Amino acid sequence: MDFGYRLLAPDEPGAVSEERRHGRSRFVILVDHASNRIPRRLGNLGLPAQELERHIAWDIGALAVARHVAAALDAPLIAQSYSRLVIDCNREPSRAASIPTVSELTQIEGNRNLSDEERRARRTEIFEPYHAHIAALLTERAAANVATILIAQHTMTDVFKGVRRSMHAAVLYNRDGRFAHLVLEGLRRETGLIIAENEPYALTDETDYSIPHHAEQHGWPYAEIELRQDLVRGPAEQAKWGQRLAHVLREAERAALLAGLFAPLAS
Ligand SMILES: [Zn+2]
Repeated sequence: MDFGYRLLAPDEPGAVSEERRHGRSRFVILVDHASNRIPRRLGNLGLPAQELERHIAWDIGALAVARHVAAALDAPLIAQSYSRLVIDCNREPSRAASIPTVSELTQIEGNRNLSDEERRARRTEIFEPYHAHIAALLTERAAANVATILIAQHTMTDVFKGVRRSMHAAVLYNRDGRFAHLVLEGLRRETGLIIAENEPYALTDETDYSIPHHAEQHGWPYAEIELRQDLVRGPAEQAKWGQRLAHVLREAERAALLAGLFAPLAS
C-alpha cells in the first residue's frame, strides 16, 4: 500500500517553533530564516557541511536577536524550524526561488529534478503549517481585539558575491511604509550607524511572502528588519542589538499611537 512521500520523520521537529504565544505586546516577531536544519531524508542537499553554516542556509544570529526583542517586549515569537534551502518560507511557493537550485554562487544539487510529490511535501510539511500557524495567531488576536504590529526579523550577509556591504542594518517595507519609517528614524537616531532604507533590496510581492501576506493584506503595521550577520554573531552582540531594537520598537509604537496608526482597532 502506498502511504505517499513523507519528508519529516516522526522524531523530527515540526515546522514551527513558538514562544510567548500569549505575550501582552502589540508586537509579533517572525523569523522566517531562523534555522539551518535540513530534514534527515534530504541529507545535506548535496552540499559540503560548511555551506550549511553560511547565510545561504539561514539568517545567522536572527533568532537569538529576536528572542531578546521578544523577551524585552513580552511579544509572541514564531520561527521556522528548517532551512530556507529546503523551502524558502518568505517566498510564494509558485516562484522558482521557493526551492532554490542556486543560492548566491552555490549550486544546490539536492534541489534539482524534484518530483511533484517531493515539492508538495516541502510545501505541505514546512511552508503551509508555518504560515497557517502565523495566520491563526493573528486571527486569534484580532478576535480578542488585540492590534498587531508585525516585525519580520532577518539578517543579511556582510559580503555578497564578493562585494562588502556598508550598511549595518536596513529597514524594508512594501506598500505601507508608515511604521517602517518610524523604526528607521528611531534606529538612525539611536546608533550613529548606517541604516539603509529598502536596500540592499526592497520588500516586494515577488521576493517576500510573510509581510505581504500576513501584514499588508490585513492592514497591520509592520517593519522588516535586516541586521548584518557579522554584527550579531556572538551572544553579547545579540543581546546588545536585541535591547537596541526593543527600545526603538517601543518608541516607534508610541509614535504610531500618537499618529493614529491603530485608529480602526483601538476604538
Ligand atoms: Zn532572511
